[in-house]
Amino acid sequence: MTDTVETVRGPVKITDMGRTLIHEHLYVTIPGWEFEPELAEFDRDAFIEEAAGKVVDLEEFGVGTFVDPCPIELGRDVGLIYEVSEKADMHIVCTTGFYFEEFGLPAYWRHQDAEDIAAHYIKEITQGIDGTNIRAGAIKVATGEEITGYERKFATAATIAQVETGVPIITHTEKGCCGPDQQDIFAGGGVDMHKCVIGHSCGNPDPAYHKKIVDRGTYIGFDRVGYEMIHPDSLRADNLVKLIDAGHIDQIMLSQDKFCHLKGIKGLPMTREEITEIEKLIDDGVFPAPYTDIFTNFLPMLKERGVSDEDIDHILRVNPQRFFSGEPFGANA
Ligand SMILES: [Zn+2]
Repeated sequence: MTDTVETVRGPVKITDMGRTLIHEHLYVTIPGWEFEPELAEFDRDAFIEEAAGKVVDLEEFGVGTFVDPCPIELGRDVGLIYEVSEKADMHIVCTTGFYFEEFGLPAYWRHQDAEDIAAHYIKEITQGIDGTNIRAGAIKVATGEEITGYERKFATAATIAQVETGVPIITHTEKGCCGPDQQDIFAGGGVDMHKCVIGHSCGNPDPAYHKKIVDRGTYIGFDRVGYEMIHPDSLRADNLVKLIDAGHIDQIMLSQDKFCHLKGIKGLPMTREEITEIEKLIDDGVFPAPYTDIFTNFLPMLKERGVSDEDIDHILRVNPQRFFSGEPFGANA
C-alpha cells in the first residue's frame, strides 16, 4: 500500500487528491493523422489555455484529481499534460500502456515479448516518459470486442508491470464486453483484483454483466457518462443504483471519457454522415461538451433515484483514493 499517487507534477498525498475523475482525456489523436497535412496545424498554447480553463471549472465541484489514461500511441504527450496541470493547478495522473488492436499496437511493439513490453511500462512508471522525469501513475489496458492474441500479450505485459511496481490498472473495453476475460488475465498474472478497474462497463446494458464484474472483486467503471449514442444516461443511472442497492458502492468508479481535443475524427469507425454531424457540433462549439456535465446533468439523475450526497462523495472521493492507495475495499467501509 502507498500513501502517495504519482501525478505529472510528482507524487501527491492520497489524502490531498480531493474528488477524482478516473477516466477523462485532454488531447487524443487517432494514429495516422500525421499523414493528413490539413490536420498538422495545432496551436499548442491555445490548446493549453482552453484545456486548463475547462479543467479549472471542475474545481467548484470538489475535483482535485483528473486521470488521463491516454494510450501511448494515441498522441499521449506528457509535456502537454504537465503544462495543463500547472496552468489549472489540478493534479493529473497519466498512464503507460498501449491501446487495442483496431486502433493501435504499433508493429515495433506488437512483435516484442510480453517481458520486453513490460520492461517499457516499468521504465515509464519508475523512471519517466519520453525522456522526461514525468512518471505514469497507472497502467492502461485495452481490448476489442474479442480479445486478440496481441491484445492478450499487451495485457499480460501490464500484469508483469503491475506486480513489479504496484500501480493500478485502468482498462478500456469495447461495447461492454470482455471485462471477465480481462479479469482472467489479471488474476492469471497475479494481480490483486482491487488494483484493477474494468472500464466502460456501462457500455453493457445488462445488470447481470455488472454483477459478474463486481463479484470478481475489481472496480467497475461507469465511466462513459454522457455517451447517449451508446446507451441513455437514464439506463446508466438505473444500473448504477442497482449496484449500490446490491452493496457494491465501494467498487463503483464514475467518469465520462470526455476529451478536450480529438485529432483525426475521420479515423473513427462511423459513417460519413455521423462524422459530418460531429464536425458540425465542433464548429458550433457544443462538442466536446464540458467536463462539468457529470455534475450538472448526471448527478441530479442519481439524486432523483435516491442516491445521497454522501454516496456520491463516496464514489467520487473515497473510491479513487482507496484504489490508488492499494488498500482493499471493505476495509474502511
Ligand atoms: Zn478513454
